[in-house]
Amino acid sequence: MRFQEYFNDGVKPTISFEIFPPKTEQGMENLLQIIPELIALHPDYITVTYGAMGSTRERTLEIASLIKNRYGMETACHLTCVGASRTELDEILSRIVDSGIRNIVALRGDPPRGDETFIPPPDGYSYGSQLVEHIRTFEREKDQESFGIAVAGYPEKHIEAPSMEIDIANLKRKVEAGGDLIITQLFFDNNFFFDFVERARSAGIIAPIIPGLMPILSAKQIKRITSMCGANIPLKLQSELDKAGNDDEKASEIGIQQCIRQTKDLLARGVPGIHFYVLNKSNQMQRIMEAISR
Ligand code: FAD
Repeated sequence: MRFQEYFNDGVKPTISFEIFPPKTEQGMENLLQIIPELIALHPDYITVTYGAMGSTRERTLEIASLIKNRYGMETACHLTCVGASRTELDEILSRIVDSGIRNIVALRGDPPRGDETFIPPPDGYSYGSQLVEHIRTFEREKDQESFGIAVAGYPEKHIEAPSMEIDIANLKRKVEAGGDLIITQLFFDNNFFFDFVERARSAGIIAPIIPGLMPILSAKQIKRITSMCGANIPLKLQSELDKAGNDDEKASEIGIQQCIRQTKDLLARGVPGIHFYVLNKSNQMQRIMEAISR
C-alpha cells in the first residue's frame, strides 16, 4: 500500500515505526532479531532511514526489502539529497522499484557535522522539495506507478529556518512538489504539534500530518538529539530526567510514560497516525503499544 492509501476518511489512525541501518555487523544482527518483534506489534508500516554516506546507505534498501519481501510488512525507504547526483538518485530509485517498495520518505539530509550550511552535491539538490520533484519526474519518465512520498515537518521550526512562517512556506513547496503526507520531527509538548498543524492548514497545506514521537533512552542521548534538531524538553520532563541522572533504566521509564501520555492525548485529539522513532529497540515499544491498546 502507498502512504496516501492509509489516510482515507473513517480509517483508524496509523501506527508506524522508524528504524535505522546499524553501522556494525553486531548492530545488524541485533536489528534482525528486533524486526520480527516490532512486526509482532502490528504497525501499519516501518520506515528505514538513510545514512549520510557509506555502507549504511546500502543497508537501507536491504533492510526495507527484507521487511517487505520476507515479512510482507509495508515499508518505506528514506532517501536524501546528500552526496547524490541526479543520475545516482535515478539508480537508487530504480533499485527501490525493483525491490517492490512503493513508499519513500524524501529528505534533504543534514550538513556534515560541524558545517552550518548544506552544500548541494555536484549535479544534485539543495532542498527536499527538489528531491520530491525529481522522484515525480522519474516516475513520469520511466512510466512508473507513483510512489507514496512523505516529507518532513518541524513543529518547532527547522533549526536553519529564519522563522516559522518561512519554514511553513517551504513545507508547502514540498507538498506541492508531490509530497503525500508530512511526518514531523520529535517533540515533547503536544501544543507545538497542534499549533503547527493550525499554521500549516492556514497556509493551505491539506496533506495528513503525522506526529513523530521518540521514546527517550537516556538523559544523555535525548540531550544530544534535541540539541541537534532544536526540539525543546519541557521543564517538568527535564527535571525528571535530571533526577534520573546516569540511570538509563529510570530515564527510559520516564520516556515510556511520557510517550504514552503524548500518544493518548494525540489520538484523543484525532491525529491521523503516530510515527514512532523506535531507535532499533522493541521493549519500549511493547510497553507503549500495550498501554495505548489499539
Ligand atoms: P528541506 O525541506 O529542504 O528544508 C531544509 C531547510 O531549508 C529548512 O530550514 C527550510 O525552511 C529551508 N528551505 C526549504 N526549501 C527552501 C527554498 N526553496 N529556499 C530557501 N530555503 C528553503 N536525515 C537523514 O540524513 N536521513 C534520514 O533518513 C532522515 N529521516 C528523517 C525523517 C523525518 C520524519 C524527519 C523529520 C527528519 C529526517 N532526517 C533524516 C533529518 C533531515 O534530513 C533534516 O532535518 C534536514 O536538515 C532537513 O531535511 P528536509 O527534507 O526537511 O529539508
